[in-house]
Amino acid sequence: MSTVNAPAAAELAFLPFHVADIGDAEVEAVVQVLRSGWLTTGPVVREFEAEFARAVGAKHAVGLNSATAALHLALDAVGLTPGDEVIVPAMTFAATAEVVRYFQAVPVLVDCDPETLNIRAVDIEPAITARTKAIIPVHMAGLSCDLDPILALARSHNLPVIEDAAHAFPSTYKGRKIGSLSDMTAFSFYATKTLTTGEGGMLTTDNDAYAERARIMGLHGISRHAWNRYTSKGTWRYDILYPGFKYNLTDIAAALGRVQLARSVELWEARQRVAQQYDAAFADIPEVRIPARTAESQHAWHLYPIRLDLQQLRIGRDEVIDRLRAAGIGTSVHFIPLHHHPYYQSTFGYSGREFPNTVGAFESLISLPIYSTLDTSAVHRVVQTLADIIAASRA
Ligand SMILES: *Cc1c(COP(=O)(O)O)cnc(C)c1O
Repeated sequence: MSTVNAPAAAELAFLPFHVADIGDAEVEAVVQVLRSGWLTTGPVVREFEAEFARAVGAKHAVGLNSATAALHLALDAVGLTPGDEVIVPAMTFAATAEVVRYFQAVPVLVDCDPETLNIRAVDIEPAITARTKAIIPVHMAGLSCDLDPILALARSHNLPVIEDAAHAFPSTYKGRKIGSLSDMTAFSFYATKTLTTGEGGMLTTDNDAYAERARIMGLHGISRHAWNRYTSKGTWRYDILYPGFKYNLTDIAAALGRVQLARSVELWEARQRVAQQYDAAFADIPEVRIPARTAESQHAWHLYPIRLDLQQLRIGRDEVIDRLRAAGIGTSVHFIPLHHHPYYQSTFGYSGREFPNTVGAFESLISLPIYSTLDTSAVHRVVQTLADIIAASRA
């Protein structure tokens, strides 16, 4: 007999899909900035950039107000122009491809590995044309892509690689840190990400010219150091060099980010503990396929995306999500493939049936709650609720 609809389950508090781990140190750091009188981009952003660059082993880190901004500035830095093509996985969030459209360029969608859901060199190679100008791999859920073959392929075609590492802090590939491996890497500090500033992002690169261009274009295209024009060291004089964007990170956000960065190992270990508890529990539930890992990658555990064996169930993925919600458990799906969305279908003529690995995975994917404050009893509640739903729905 299923316990899913039992009154006791319904009375439990809602277990959200995500809760940010904000402690007293974060609160104090933000209050200190508020009391300082300097709220926007300033010394705290500069410190956060230096610390983040060190943490990922990059020469430069440019603090921005989102990963979307970082991706946009990266494409600007490589000189994207209308009609150019950029290779992007179909299995990703809106941001990865929309930034290509900012330039009237074409996001060329490709399939992914059926296990890891990451883009592979074999997916990318047939999509390269004379108009291809960049490749944007996405490290799904925080598991790094197999980057060496992608970087080798890119090099052989003289193409820059811009990593969408919105899920991948802290991740490594073959012991090397994500953020230090390709031309440019974009990180997200959005509210649900592994390091949060509420809203925020970072672009990392070893390339001086890319960093300089991103700094200028991220602040109205006005000459460098314009951010300090209201300080004692600043000058009222500035030059507008290009029509840029307003993408700067605030000191308020950076203060939060510095504390989160200092706690990043602790937070990662807590998420890894959750992943291990799920793994162990799902070993007894054959209808649940746990997320892939690879020998080369240290997983950031931003997400814990399971896949259901729908052949063995009388209900579909959506119904499982509805029943989890009815039992007070928040989940999500990462991602609805880009070519399933009306914009991509009407603009580029996708039917939604392309990219079989992406579509096959999407139909059975559910992202379960995973965050540092999710305690063992909450993990067990998720597992038990899902186990009950499955037990009541076996084909
Ligand atoms: C969250 C996310 C982004 C966008 O990050 P923002 O900081 O909100 O702009 C980009 N790509 C992927 C894969 C994401 O999950």
